[in-house]
Amino acid sequence: MAGEPQDDCLFCKIVAGTIPATVVRETDTTVAFRDINPQAPTHILVIPKAHYKDAATLGAQAPQLAAAVLAETQAVADEEKLDSYRVVFNTGSGAGQTVWHAHAHVLGGRGMQWPPG
Ligand code: AMP
Ligand code: ZN
Repeated sequence: MAGEPQDDCLFCKIVAGTIPATVVRETDTTVAFRDINPQAPTHILVIPKAHYKDAATLGAQAPQLAAAVLAETQAVADEEKLDSYRVVFNTGSGAGQTVWHAHAHVLGGRGMQWPPG
């Protein structure tokens, strides 16, 4: 069923608490935690608690949940006192997605280039 936890999913395990993470915010439907391999002074992942394989699937199948994830990226940026920051949803392996549970990267605390690599 759409959104059901997957046994082989790292981020479902973080949601379940069976793999530890440095959680910075939690709502009924989302969790935000620090990336284990930070690419900026602030690098936080915001995920829906429900399992959707990528941002495209999340947006199509659960648009209210996608909106909740987006709202949390802003809440995280506020808590981290970021006035400029980048929100990234790598979608597909060619774009660098490695974990197949939708997640927003919130990156900030340093200058950034455009276009991204
Ligand atoms: P992506 O490459 O867009 O799929 O992003 C996956 C992100 O998850 C990468 O930035 C990883 O550093 C991060 N990551 C992988 N394992 C963990 C973990 N156990 N705790 C926190 N972040 C993780
Ligand atoms: Zn999952």
